Amino acid sequence: MDKKVIIFSAPSGAGKSTIVGHLLKKYQFLEFSVSATSRQPRGEEVDGKDYYFFSTDQFERKIANGEFVEYEEVYAGSYYGTLRSEVQRIWEKGNIIIFDIDVKGGVNLKKLYSSNALAVFIQPPSIEELRKRLIGRGTDSMEAIERRVAKAEEELTYSDKFDVVLVNDSLEEALATAEKIVEEFASR
Ligand code: 5GP
Repeated sequence: MDKKVIIFSAPSGAGKSTIVGHLLKKYQFLEFSVSATSRQPRGEEVDGKDYYFFSTDQFERKIANGEFVEYEEVYAGSYYGTLRSEVQRIWEKGNIIIFDIDVKGGVNLKKLYSSNALAVFIQPPSIEELRKRLIGRGTDSMEAIERRVAKAEEELTYSDKFDVVLVNDSLEEALATAEKIVEEFASR
């Protein structure tokens, strides 16, 4: 079997984690790529499950050693990246890798894996709706929300670099479309 990957990218608040979580539960042949990060663990996050947590020093050493397939400083001072060892680990089991990754990282991985990759861009119905969802989530200050919205506006301009744009208007419909896309790609 070809070594396949499915990339999910989206502006924050577009519903990416919900869709990725649903697909992982439904399809045993999909496996989540655990990213490395230099940010602090949040809440209940577990090292090795949600992320591999490293100090900034450790992360920068790994960059210098060429241990990443891709990495980005997604937020000022916080690195996120995909380790080569993680990609190998999942492919060795014969699974298809699923990435939940920022928009720039998604574009880079699509370039790297080209026809072995399916790159899906999840788009919120509108910027106004995105702002509403972020407010509804209640985890960010108004200032942080406006920062995320501004970043989202920029990220939306990358959607044409993805294979599929999935508009997350009705969650139920988005999940059904996501299933169809995954099944078609897996059987290719
Ligand atoms: P959070 O801090 O909320 O967990 O994640 C922040 C952002 O980093 C999300 O948009 C997430 O998709 C992105 N991200 C997570 N892992 C990676 C990675 O390995 N590479 C890149 N480029 N972005 C990542």
